[in-house]
Amino acid sequence: MDEASPTPAGLVPTAVQRTARVIEQVEMARDTFRLRLECPELAKRILPGQFFMVREPGLTDPLLGRPFALFDVACDSQGEPVGIDFGYVVVGKLTRRMVRWKPGDPVSVCGPLGNGFPEPCDGHLVMVAGGIGQTPFLAVTREALGQRRYGDPPRTAAARPELTLCYGARSANQLAGIDSFPAEGLDLRVATDDGSHGHHGFVTDLLQDLITNESAPTMIYTCGPEPMMEAVAMLAAEHDIACRVSLETPMACGFGACFSCVTRIRLDNGQWDYRRTCVEGPVFPAEKLHWSDR
Ligand SMILES: Cc1cc2nc3c(=O)[nH]c(=O)nc-3n(C[C@H](O)[C@H](O)[C@H](O)COP(=O)(O)OP(=O)(O)OC[C@H]3O[C@@H](n4cnc5c(N)ncnc54)[C@H](O)[C@@H]3O)c2cc1C
Repeated sequence: MDEASPTPAGLVPTAVQRTARVIEQVEMARDTFRLRLECPELAKRILPGQFFMVREPGLTDPLLGRPFALFDVACDSQGEPVGIDFGYVVVGKLTRRMVRWKPGDPVSVCGPLGNGFPEPCDGHLVMVAGGIGQTPFLAVTREALGQRRYGDPPRTAAARPELTLCYGARSANQLAGIDSFPAEGLDLRVATDDGSHGHHGFVTDLLQDLITNESAPTMIYTCGPEPMMEAVAMLAAEHDIACRVSLETPMACGFGACFSCVTRIRLDNGQWDYRRTCVEGPVFPAEKLHWSDR
């Protein structure tokens, strides 16, 4: 693929392939880091919920890029988008190498990829995140609060929903990036499995409590471990609440060529078919997903 090509393999017209430089690396939580890459073209185009493929140039193991969701766009003093932030948990080959990346190091990035979250709706938007699944929700929050515009041309969020983020992790030391979320305009509720911070229990308890004891949300967005997202989708279906799910299906190419990331989708005629998480997702309406036997 040509480094300067605006179109990876001609399949995703808005994506760019670039060699970006690391601007900074910050520890966010246990085994969890935030990387900032200098890449104005990608920063200008990307929308909340979209992702990009990351590779270490010259590395053959792993050979393929790895997908990471946008945490936020970094802007210069004039407000121009110059960089992209993403959070990552150290789990395997590439993420173990990423920990050693330092300012100035070259990184291969390709994006923006995927559909992202729709524009903010009216009413009450509740985001439910588990673990590193919180990363797409900072940009969603900033857009919904009118603090930042994303995309090229920048999309204008007409709606100003009431915003709640229910964020769960196993333990307090795995809660990443809480301080990055705006203190004003967002109702942030935290749960930990071991009770070391916030509610002692699952993040879905927070959603159940909100639906039962307050008013039902207008829309739910969720990202995190699949069992958590399935539980969120079930609650949404039970209470007839619209819900969008951001999948983290492992993928190889990221732009629709290899079909390694297909997921089962219900069709309107009651049948099912496969859809590629990288191009038709990663965000899907919850009711379209075939949760059993995934
Ligand atoms: C659209 C999308 C957005 C993502 N955004 C983020 C993000 O913002 N932050 C983040 O930390 N991660 C994110 N992920 C997951 C991330 O891509 C993987 O953690 C990463 O590929 C691991 O690469 P590795 O080379 O370190 O691990 P590998 O060596 O490839 O794998 C190590 C281990 O992790 C498991 N693994 C690999 N990928 C996944 C996965 N997707 N889900 C569950 N287990 C996996 C493997 O089965 C293996 O056991 C996202 C995934 C997708 C599809």
